[in-house]
Amino acid sequence: VICDFLVVGGGSAGCALARRLSERPDARVIMVEAGGAAAHPDVLDPSAYYRLWESDVAWRYTSVAQRGTNDRVHYSPRGKGLGGSSAINGMVYFRGARSDYDNWAYAGNHGWSWADVLPAFEAMEAVLTPTVLPERNPLSTVFVNACVQAGHHFTDEFDGGELSGVGWNRSTIRDGQRNSSYRAFLAPVKDRANLSIVLNSRATRILVRRDGCVSGVECVDAARRKMQIVAGETILCCGAFDSPKLLLLSGIGPARDLEAFGIDVRVDLPVGDNLVDHVLLGVLYEGTRPLPEQNAHLTEATLFAGSRPDGYTADIQISFNKEKHFADGYTVGPAAFTIIPGITKPKSRGWVRLRSADPDEPPVINPCHLDQDADVRCLLRGIELAREVGEADAFAPWRAREVAPGPGIDDEPGLRQYIARVSSTWFHPVGTCKMGLDAGAVVSPDLRVYGTQGLSVADASIMPEIVSANTNGAATMIGWKAAEILLSR
Ligand SMILES: Cc1cc2nc3c(=O)[nH]c(=O)nc-3n(C[C@H](O)[C@H](O)[C@H](O)COP(=O)(O)OP(=O)(O)OC[C@H]3O[C@@H](n4cnc5c(N)ncnc54)[C@H](O)[C@@H]3O)c2cc1C
Repeated sequence: VICDFLVVGGGSAGCALARRLSERPDARVIMVEAGGAAAHPDVLDPSAYYRLWESDVAWRYTSVAQRGTNDRVHYSPRGKGLGGSSAINGMVYFRGARSDYDNWAYAGNHGWSWADVLPAFEAMEAVLTPTVLPERNPLSTVFVNACVQAGHHFTDEFDGGELSGVGWNRSTIRDGQRNSSYRAFLAPVKDRANLSIVLNSRATRILVRRDGCVSGVECVDAARRKMQIVAGETILCCGAFDSPKLLLLSGIGPARDLEAFGIDVRVDLPVGDNLVDHVLLGVLYEGTRPLPEQNAHLTEATLFAGSRPDGYTADIQISFNKEKHFADGYTVGPAAFTIIPGITKPKSRGWVRLRSADPDEPPVINPCHLDQDADVRCLLRGIELAREVGEADAFAPWRAREVAPGPGIDDEPGLRQYIARVSSTWFHPVGTCKMGLDAGAVVSPDLRVYGTQGLSVADASIMPEIVSANTNGAATMIGWKAAEILLSR
């Protein structure tokens, strides 16, 4: 099979990219996706999303034991099938902060400053249509009021790049149903004559010659039949765990690691390094009475705050859930709510590596959660801020008691233990095929894999630094913008 552009992976970025590439009628585009149509009924139902995490539309990955979290292993699912992780995620939508992108550009990534990415966000969002949900849960309004009572300002300007204060966040929900990247970008154009979507076929190897020229990928389908797809340009959109895995399997990665698995080294690059993930935990309250039903499971209001009184950067994001969440090991009655501080600028860095040279094996994932004490200190401050909100008057009619960390735990050693016991991934891994000009970079600012021709990466793995909020918006923008870059080459 032959095409101009081969998009490997049909997730958040891949669907946006394939739509835009196939807008050009003379470009023949193939998208190959390891999963299926993601037709699981819960995909469309926003209130059912927790059920998807362990379903057949998820890659059920786990991390290795994390020293920073009491040697716990963290379940780290990724979406599998059309829409990728946008088909199983929490649907919270943010662009990120102006400073995130300006820092990318400052590091040498020409074309990725806030001013550069803003038009891409606007054009992409015109199709994705993330919105502030009109029907709010009364308890979310209580959360917003409590934040204001705790001294935070109300904002309706999250989209302007200043992430600070409390406000209503947008969600990727349309007409009451999840709007995955597939539903938004590809479903309406899937019949284009120049676009083919190949499902249930996993790329197992990039076809890369000794001189670095790439001619496509080898895939294996559900019946274990092998197929080669030949392409002028191959673009990896397999996400922050699987894009590095595919590069490593193909001999593009740290030479010493590849040699240890008997893989022929094509290009010696730090693929898989620089794994960054957001970490969060729950401050859990028992409610006094049944909580209002509508939008029961959705995060519709968010607070951004700085961990340091003198700092202007909002490095803490606090979400609100109208039930128990991210407080494993604690029991609570049927009425509960959780105030969830997370760190948006973690200092810890981890890695993704191969388990073996067998493409069927899942990658080894080591996010190094809370390796750096700065991250723990940030969470300590996050718990303080969450408690200030939880104890505000607005919650008085709803709050029976704090269950976790619990009223007895307010000294630093106790809180540090709590952090190690309950902190968890926010499911935002990025950075493993870092874009940049430095020795740690895997792709250039125009997304080419160094040392190759005809190979690019366009997904969450290229982020040089993680954005200061949930990562789906940024990943989708990367796919959208990649089309401009590829078509202008
Ligand atoms: C449980 C969960 C909750 C989340 N909640 C939120 C949230 O509320 N808001 C938010 O902004 N972000 C959230 N995120 C994160 C966000 O969804 C991701 O950052 C984003 O979807 C990443 O997009 P991507 O294109 O990089 O990868 P993905 O969307 O994961 O796409 C990768 C695709 O590639 C396919 N693939 C992998 N390997 C191969 C291969 N070898 N061959 C062919 N295809 C392959 C996969 O099946 C998948 O479809 C959440 C993520 C998860 C998992």
